Amino acid sequence: MDKMTPEQRHRCMSRIGSRNTRPEMIVRRWLWRQGFRYRVGVKSLPGTPDIVLRRYSTVIFVNGCFWHGHDCEKFRVPSTNTAFWEAKFSRNQARDRRVYKQLHEMGYYVLVVWECQLEAPRRLATLQALSTRLAEIYLDTHQAKPRPYGDGDDAAPGIAAEPQD
Ligand SMILES: [Zn+2]
Repeated sequence: MDKMTPEQRHRCMSRIGSRNTRPEMIVRRWLWRQGFRYRVGVKSLPGTPDIVLRRYSTVIFVNGCFWHGHDCEKFRVPSTNTAFWEAKFSRNQARDRRVYKQLHEMGYYVLVVWECQLEAPRRLATLQALSTRLAEIYLDTHQAKPRPYGDGDDAAPGIAAEPQD
């Protein structure tokens, strides 16, 4: 443990902080009470999404505003080691974008809930909006369609069309 560079230590801390956090538990308890069933911390998916709702083809990330660099009043770049932190936040944001894109290409809807959206007085509205979005996704994905993940731009990559000539 002593041999870690500051950067490794921060990464380690961020990982510890990313599991079973209070904001994540707020979302999980809400979903469970609403009757949604899910898996947590699915390592086989890119980015190890916090919550996976397979029936809804949906993954949910509950992001801390600090580590993920949310553009809100909770996020401030620390005034010491500013360059280090700025580089770290932009790496985190780039990784997030990459992971969301990969999941989208696998056919998942990717929903992000921010820590600041789970604070009173916004919490209830955030959670209700989440339930509404999941209901919409369920309707989208369970209507009679030729493919499981919708049509057009949501289609999984690599499915070739019949050659037309
Ligand atoms: Zn925020």
